[in-house]
Amino acid sequence: MLRPKIYVDRFKSFRKLYGWDEGNAMPKLLKCSFCGKTIKPGTGIMYVKEDGTILYFCSSKCRKNSLKLRRNPAKLKWTEKYKRPSS
Ligand SMILES: [Zn+2]
Repeated sequence: MLRPKIYVDRFKSFRKLYGWDEGNAMPKLLKCSFCGKTIKPGTGIMYVKEDGTILYFCSSKCRKNSLKLRRNPAKLKWTEKYKRPSS
């Protein structure tokens, strides 16, 4: 079985090329697509829609509010995208 070995070597060089270490799979800090808060490395999920749009969620709470409940983050007080009424 030669094929798996070649694949692993190429993958390692690919990671070195982009400056990724073994313990650092996430290259940079990402912000939650729903609440706007910074996602800690190793937590959260990446969601890819059928049309190719990539969404990052810090928790299942944000994922459910966005995908299942289809809420607007600007109308929820606990998000950083919340816009206060001007009045
Ligand atoms: Zn969030």
